[in-house]
Amino acid sequence: MNYQKILQEIKDEVKPILNKGKIADYIPALGRVNPSHFAMSLSLFDGRTFGVGDVEHKFSIQSISKVFTYSMAISHYEKILHKRVGHEPSGNPFNSLVQLEYENGIPRNPFINAGAIVITDMLNSKYKEKTFSKILDFIKSVNNNQNINYDKEVASSEAEFGYRNMALVNMMKSFKNITNNIEDVMDIYFKQCSISMSSSELSRAMLFLANHGIDPITKARFLTSSQAKRVSSLMLTCGHYDASGDFAFRVGLPGKSGVGGGIVAIVPEHMSICVWSPGLNSKGNSLAGTKALELFTTKTGLSIF
Ligand code: GLU
Repeated sequence: MNYQKILQEIKDEVKPILNKGKIADYIPALGRVNPSHFAMSLSLFDGRTFGVGDVEHKFSIQSISKVFTYSMAISHYEKILHKRVGHEPSGNPFNSLVQLEYENGIPRNPFINAGAIVITDMLNSKYKEKTFSKILDFIKSVNNNQNINYDKEVASSEAEFGYRNMALVNMMKSFKNITNNIEDVMDIYFKQCSISMSSSELSRAMLFLANHGIDPITKARFLTSSQAKRVSSLMLTCGHYDASGDFAFRVGLPGKSGVGGGIVAIVPEHMSICVWSPGLNSKGNSLAGTKALELFTTKTGLSIF
């Protein structure tokens, strides 16, 4: 298959909608991104990569970080993790408070904000003051790249305007589902959302999930195949908030989006993909990014169904 040609066709086809989405502006640091950016990258098991657009431009990974932190937590807390976080789609926006109240502070899944905050709390219990550097180390190792860091301006903006996330963590603390100091947990959570990566880095970083938990290039094992199955299953059912069903319907691949405009997806046993376009649809997922992935699976016939 001529992947480079297919990517170029996709880039041309989504061009008219690049400026139609809305940039995340809940913090000023994200609102300044140029909406006409577009990048799409593929990583294959044999080390070949393909890409179009701004593939080396770093952007804020935001909720894509939840895939990495859930992967870290599931390998340490496999038996008990899902007593504190569910594994059902929420059908609610990523930062919703309502469901959390009537479900007694147990978030529906690790990919909505509340669930990701509980996961960060679990990692904080294990790694204490080293937690954020352990998260960065994990991402560096799945990416086989040391050049990954977070954007301090985005992190402090997240903290300054994080009223709703603070409400979520306080409510969960009142239900005793947060065990560490709230300020410590949120400092780590805001930093993990503020990690900057490019689409070529993110697509490389997802290869282990496409290959049952083992990096197909370095052969390093990060998860058991059962754990990798769980992470990928939740990406399929919960990776796009209350538009997860729509994403599965259109694209047919496990994927995870972030409000920075990135989406990662995996084609099990074949490849991993990242697309980036900062304009978002009404559900907070990249508008052109979702379309690009839909075009990719339509043109190549590569989906899990
Ligand atoms: N930093 C964002 C928040 O916690 C992450 C949300 C997202 O990427 O979907 O509000």
